[in-house]
This record gives sequence, C-alpha cells and structure tokens, in this order.
Amino acid sequence: MSLAFDLPTAAYVHIPFCRRRCFYCDFPISVVGDRPPLNSSFGSIAEYVEIVCREIATTTAPSTIPLTSVFFGGGTPSLLTVEELAQILNTLDRHFGIATPAEISMEIDPGTFDLRHLQGYCAAGINRVSLGVQSFYLEILQACGRTHTPAEIFAAVDLIHQVNLPNFSLDLISGLPHLTLERWQDSLEKAIALSPLTCRSMT
Ligand code: SF4
Repeated sequence: MSLAFDLPTAAYVHIPFCRRRCFYCDFPISVVGDRPPLNSSFGSIAEYVEIVCREIATTTAPSTIPLTSVFFGGGTPSLLTVEELAQILNTLDRHFGIATPAEISMEIDPGTFDLRHLQGYCAAGINRVSLGVQSFYLEILQACGRTHTPAEIFAAVDLIHQVNLPNFSLDLISGLPHLTLERWQDSLEKAIALSPLTCRSMT
C-alpha cells in the first residue's frame, strides 16, 4: 500500500519581536522597545536573522518543488529592516527555491514602517500584507496595551495603497474590553471601506 501525501511548498518564518507586549498576549516574544531609525536594525533582531538563515541553509529541502507561499508572522515582522527581510528571502530562494509567482506575505503593525520601508519590502518580494489593526478605537487600543493609534491605522492603509500591493488583509480582534456590538459593527464597516483584498493579478 502506498501513502499519497502532498509535499510542503510553503514556508512560515517567525519573527518573535515586538516593541512592547500587548496586555492580552501570551505568545513567546522578546520586547525590544521603540524602533530605532527605520533603516537601522535592532541588534537582537539582526542576530536572530543570522540564525534563521543558518537554520534554513542546514535544513534539507522536503521536495524539489519551489515554495509557492512564504509567510512572515510574529511578533512584529515589520520591525525587520528591508535588508534583513531580503536576506531571509534570498536564503529561502537559494535553498528551497521560490516559485514565480508565489504569495509572499508579511504581518505588519501600524506605526512601524514608512513609505520607503514598505517600498523596500515590496522590492524584496512581499506581495501581500496583513495589517494588525485589532481595533479602530483609541480607548480599546489603550486598554489592550497596543502601541498604535487609530490615526496610524489609516496612515498605514494609505501607504499600502500607495505601493499598490496586490492584496492585503486587516486583522481585527473581537471580545476586547469596551467593544460593544455597535462598535464591532462600525469596525467591520470601517474595515470594508478601507478596501482590503483588492486582488489585482500577481506577476
Ligand atoms: S503585537 Fe502580537 S505578538 Fe506582539 S505583543 Fe502584541 S499580540 Fe503579542
């Protein structure tokens, strides 16, 4: 009897660093504090990226089929510099191959990137982002210990539209303190109005 199974063609890269710890979070992360200038690296993240690349280089590829999906999750992957992101993607490409097209996604948090930063991520290969909105209400964001404001959410979406990403998603959390049914309805309407999942064709 032979067992049929699909060989993996996706990679998940975990970036376990955040500026501060949200009050509801029990993920294993390292808190690095406020961001240095956008093009300089947190030293601990640079060391971690070196280790991840070594790990990739010593991992046997499960198949000869190139990766069709790469996902950077966290933590806060948008604390990576463009160079660090490109270093990981180049290492994945050298050792496993990345298909063309492939969906290359990244979780990003409002207030952790600017236009040049986002353009650099896209030039490195990112073609989808997931924005950590969580709530559109300042009172809720503060009650949860989030580091961003509602204004930074809208500024971040504006940047995403400016770089013409093929598609993006917005992350919202239900059941948070001070979240009423009316506020949840309003949040969903706000999210839809921001036009995520634009779904242009990937090249
Ligand atoms: S951004 Fe996410 S991973 Fe980081 S502290 Fe907040 S909930 Fe945890």
